[in-house]
Amino acid sequence: MQELLKKHFGYDEFRTGQREIIQEITDGHDCLVLMPTGGGKSLCFQLPALMLDGLTLVISPLISLMKDQVDQLRANGIAVGLINSTMTPQEITTTQQKAKDGKLKILYLAPERLTVSSFINFLQEIKISLIAIDEAHCISEWGHDFRPDYRNLKKLRNIFPTVPVVALTATATEKVRADILLQLSLREPKIFISSFDRPNLTYRVLPKKKFSPQLLKLLKKYENESVIIYCFSRKSTDALADKLQKAGFNTGAYHAGLSTIQRERVQDRFIKDQINIITATIAFGMGIDKPDVRLVVHLDLPKSIEGYYQETGRAGRDSLPAECVLFFSPGDRQKHAYFINEIDDEAEKNRAWKKLEDMLRYSSLDSCRHKYLLNYFGEQSEVDSCGACDICLEPAKEFDGTEVTQKILSAIIRTGQKFGAGHIAKILIGSKSERLEQFGHDKLTVFGIVKNFNRDQLNQIINQLINKNLLQKTDGQYPILQLTDFALIFLKQKLSIKLAEPTFISHAGELTQRNLSYNEELFEELRILRKRLADQMSVPPYVIFSNNTLQEMAIYYPQSPQSLLKITGVGEQKLEQFGEIFLALIGEYAKIKNFTDTTTSKYKQSPMTEINLQNSTYDQTKELLLKKLSLMEIAKKRGLKISTIIEHLEKITEIDKNMPIDHLKPNIVRLEKIKTAFEATGMIWTLSPVRELLGDNYSYDELRLARIFIKRMAS
Ligand code: ADP
Ligand code: ZN
Repeated sequence: MQELLKKHFGYDEFRTGQREIIQEITDGHDCLVLMPTGGGKSLCFQLPALMLDGLTLVISPLISLMKDQVDQLRANGIAVGLINSTMTPQEITTTQQKAKDGKLKILYLAPERLTVSSFINFLQEIKISLIAIDEAHCISEWGHDFRPDYRNLKKLRNIFPTVPVVALTATATEKVRADILLQLSLREPKIFISSFDRPNLTYRVLPKKKFSPQLLKLLKKYENESVIIYCFSRKSTDALADKLQKAGFNTGAYHAGLSTIQRERVQDRFIKDQINIITATIAFGMGIDKPDVRLVVHLDLPKSIEGYYQETGRAGRDSLPAECVLFFSPGDRQKHAYFINEIDDEAEKNRAWKKLEDMLRYSSLDSCRHKYLLNYFGEQSEVDSCGACDICLEPAKEFDGTEVTQKILSAIIRTGQKFGAGHIAKILIGSKSERLEQFGHDKLTVFGIVKNFNRDQLNQIINQLINKNLLQKTDGQYPILQLTDFALIFLKQKLSIKLAEPTFISHAGELTQRNLSYNEELFEELRILRKRLADQMSVPPYVIFSNNTLQEMAIYYPQSPQSLLKITGVGEQKLEQFGEIFLALIGEYAKIKNFTDTTTSKYKQSPMTEINLQNSTYDQTKELLLKKLSLMEIAKKRGLKISTIIEHLEKITEIDKNMPIDHLKPNIVRLEKIKTAFEATGMIWTLSPVRELLGDNYSYDELRLARIFIKRMAS
C-alpha cells in the first residue's frame, strides 16, 4: 500500500484514516466515509482501485469535478476513463471498449448514465471490483445539494450485490448520514468519521464599517494567490470586480446572471491561475476543487453556518495555511429578513431564522471560532485555544462587566421581557425614539444610564451574555431577549462577571504573517515554470505539482532524481515527465546561491524526532517518567497541567516504543471500554467521536492516556 502511495501519488504517508479505510475497502467491506473538504477522500477509492483486480466505478455529480480528477490521475500515469453527457457516442463507445479490454483501472460516470439500459448491459459485461460514490450526500433530500439522478444509484446495488460500495461525503449532519446508509442499502458498512475541524484555516471576523482598506490590505497580502470573495448580490459582485480590476488586481466576476459559457470561462481561467480573484455570489465553487485557494472573504453575512462552513471550506484544500475572513455588520440581519419572510411554510421560516441566529452568534463570538463550528456540527473540541482564529490569536482585554450586565438585565426585566436587543440598547444609552416614547420607556430609571458604551458595543455585550447563558433569544424575525435561570441567580447572589472589552474594532489586529520557512524566490520561479508547462498542456497548474510540492522543493533543493522522488507529491510518473526540467531550474538556482541538496534531512526534521527531544521539555518529563512517578507528581514537579504531561507522554512513547509506562496504565475495565469505543469509530484515533460514544464520564485526558496503551497493544 505504502509503495503504491509513493509510486503513483508521490506521497510518503497516509493521512489520518486513509490507511484504515483503504484496508476495509480492499477487504471487501462497504464503507461510509465522512471527511471534511480537503481531507483526502479521493485517495480512499483511487488507491484501492489500483490494488484490486477489475475496474472501479466512480460516480460523481459534476462534470467539471470529474474532469479535474481524471486530469490529475492521468498526470500520475493511472489508466482512467470518463463517460458523461458532453461526449459524442463515438467517444463513449471507445471508452467502453477500453474498459471491456481491461485497459482501464478507474471509470468516472455521471449518475444519469445508469438510466440507459444499454449502458447497464455494458457494465454487466465487465468485472467491477469496487463502486465509489463521491459526494454521496447528493442522494439525500435532506442535504444541501440533492440530485434526483443519484437515486438511480440504488440500481447498482441490485445489479452488483457482492461488489463493495464506498460512499464519501463532507456533509456533517446526522440526518444526511443516516439517509445515505438507507438509500444506498450499504451492507454492514464500516463508518469512518474524521474530525471536521480544518486546523489550517484561520477564521476571522472584521467590522464591515469602512471595510475597503482592510480588504485591500488582505488582497495585497495574497497577491498572485487564489482568492474568492463572496458577495450578496450580482450587482455588488460586478461592482467590486470592476473596482479591484481598476486597482490592478486580476479579477473576474461570477454569478447567475452570466451565461453558462461566460461562467465556465471565468471558472476555467481561475483554475488555470489566469485570474487570481473571483468575486462571486454563493453559486461559485460548486464545480471546482482548486486546492490552493488561500483566502475566502465574505462581504455579507451567509444565511447559515452550513453554508459558511462549505464556502470557507473551499480554502486550503491542500492543507497549507489559508484564511477565511467575514466582514460583519449587525445590520446585515435585515438583508436576510426580506428573503426569509418570503418563505410560506411557517416551520421552515422559523428554521431559517434559527439558522441565521446561529450565524449571527458566530459573528459576535467571544470564544474560539473553530470550537463553535465544531460544536455546531455536534463535535466536541479538545482544545481551549486553537491558535487559528482571531479570538485565540488576539484575545480581547477583559473588564469587570458586572455593572453593565446588571443594567442590561434590569432594563429587560423592567420592560417585561418583551423586547429585542436593539430596543434594550436604545433605552440604556438614552436614544431619542418615537417607539421608546410610545411605550413610555424614556421614563424608566434605566433610560440613559449607560454612558461608556455605544449601541454597537452594547449589542456586542448582549451577545456575550447570550454566549455566557445569562440571556436567551426567542426565534423569529424579531427575537426577544429573556433572562435565563442563571441570570436570576446572578442578580440574586450578586455575582460578578468578566467580559471581553467591546471595541467593535476588536480582533482587527495585525493579520497573521505568512509561513516563510521556504525560499520564496525559488518558489516563485518554480511557480512560473509550472504555469508555463500547464499552459502548454492546457491543464490547471496544480495538476502538474501542488504548492506543497513546490514549497518542499524550495526547502530542500533536491538535485538528483532520487532526491526529487523524496519530495511529497512526486511519484514515478511525474518524475519521468517533469523531473528533468524542474531539476534543471533548482540546480541552476542552487548553484548560483551556493545551496546544497538537503533532501536526506527531510525525515529527520519532522516534529517527532530525537533532535527535537534532546534537552527539551520532553526530556525533563521523560526523566521523571523513568523514576516511575505518577502523572500527578510529574505535573506538580514540572508546574504543568496533567493534560500537558499526557501530551508529552504521547510524543515520548511514539519515539521510544519500549519506554516503560505500565505504572500509568488506567483501570483495566475502563481501558477495555475505551478500546471498544475506538474500534467502533473505526480506529481512526480521533478522540471526539470516542468521547461522544462514552459520554462525559470519560475525560479527554483519560481517553488520550488510554489511546497510548491501546496503540501499544495494537502494534
Ligand atoms: P477531498 O476529496 O476530501 O476534499 P482530496 O481528495 O481532493 O480531498 O484531497 C485534498 C488534497 O490532499 C489533494 O491535493 C490531495 O492530493 C492531497 N492528499 C490526499 N492524500 C494525501 C496524502 N496521503 N499525503 C499528502 N497529500 C494528500
Ligand atoms: Zn480559536
